[in-house]
Amino acid sequence: MKRGFLQHPQASNGSSSSTVSKKATYGPHTALVSESYANREMFKKAEMIDNQPAIRSSYGVLDNASRLPKDHDIGEFKYEVLNGATDHSDNMLVMTRIPNTSMNATPADVPGGWSECLVTGSAKRSILRTPGFPHALPSPALPVAYRVAPTPNKGLGVFATRAIRLGELIVSERPLIISPAGMDLATDCPDDFTDEQVKQASLAQREKMMEVLVHTRMHPERREAYLALCNSHLHDGSGPLMGIMRTNGFGVDIEADKGIWGTYSGVFDHLSRVNHSCSPNTIRTWRDESLSMQLFATRDIAKDEEITCEYCDLLEPASARQKVLAPYDVVCTCNACRFPGVSDLRRKEIKDFKPPALSEIFPWAMNPALPDDHLLKPLLRCAELIRQEGLEAAEQKDVSILLPMLMCYVVLGDEAKAKALQEKINLNDISENRKVKDDDPTSLKALKKGPLWALRKRMHARR
Ligand SMILES: [Zn+2]
Repeated sequence: MKRGFLQHPQASNGSSSSTVSKKATYGPHTALVSESYANREMFKKAEMIDNQPAIRSSYGVLDNASRLPKDHDIGEFKYEVLNGATDHSDNMLVMTRIPNTSMNATPADVPGGWSECLVTGSAKRSILRTPGFPHALPSPALPVAYRVAPTPNKGLGVFATRAIRLGELIVSERPLIISPAGMDLATDCPDDFTDEQVKQASLAQREKMMEVLVHTRMHPERREAYLALCNSHLHDGSGPLMGIMRTNGFGVDIEADKGIWGTYSGVFDHLSRVNHSCSPNTIRTWRDESLSMQLFATRDIAKDEEITCEYCDLLEPASARQKVLAPYDVVCTCNACRFPGVSDLRRKEIKDFKPPALSEIFPWAMNPALPDDHLLKPLLRCAELIRQEGLEAAEQKDVSILLPMLMCYVVLGDEAKAKALQEKINLNDISENRKVKDDDPTSLKALKKGPLWALRKRMHARR
């Protein structure tokens, strides 16, 4: 069997991939993109998403006028089975199993499983060429730290089955399905279709593709897992399969493929069960080399506590967050959303905070006119705001305060605080290979031998 190709379900052996005859797609953000329809009102108003003109699809309860006419025929979804071909054009959509897996395989045969992918030719090549691909999935420590269970008001959720420590890998999973986060506008609609009907026709066409992906290609066990996921898009024209994709997809950042389809979206058996919080206790990362997503604890999590992650930009005000969450049927009732007055101000201050550059450390250290806590004071304030808002996850991505804080304690010669900070940086660092070892020049051991150690104390002593 040639690498990178899949057996078509109808084929008894050999491998194949299926190319999609029409460009099309959607995603959790469900941006519709198009190179045509330049004269349509909706396209003139298009916003830019991933540098492409795009229109967000509708959601909610649509009135009857916006539905497709009963006699409108979406048409057959045509695709072609390609046995062994690898030279797909860059923008051609391909249905393929990644890592390469026989259609006869069962999930038990393939450690970590595989993803049914609807990807462009260039994305497929990009994935297969990732150095080390297909790498084994990173393994969480045993025993398994979570269970899926009902929540009082949010359907199912994920809960800690034991105490989980800051930085611990909790879930590591390959998506059930990967597909583009954008969707092409249907181009063969009658001229008298309203903009809304064009959107509906686009969703209906994508549903046809999903039917092939889910009902024809997916292994029954993985299909069952997919179909068991929640669908919050019951009244906006999404078919059931698209609805599940739009409700449960997390962005997966496939390197080197930010073309016409924008980014991709992955739906997961377990990870997609993790509910939103505006003060989440985890962060997600994506790894190309294992085609998998990881969930790490951003603070200590107690046994039986719900494990949560973010579905929106946590540093935006509550009203903006609610708008982004609405299509997921999430009405967040966390304290930050219920009492936005104080929380919005704190989050804005965190968002606007500019940590001192490392180049500012030395001039402060040598300037006796500046107080000892000149750089540290604003950093400590930001750290306290982060703690109050439960935004340790944002500390990972958006606000880098830990390293400048460590350098301040180094210059002050405060060994206990510097040691605690370095431990926190190590625990907080979810990219294993960046963890600071003792022989690293940025380790506390090395810093203590360096010229910055206790520089402030020495400067004071000289005066
Ligand atoms: Zn909230």
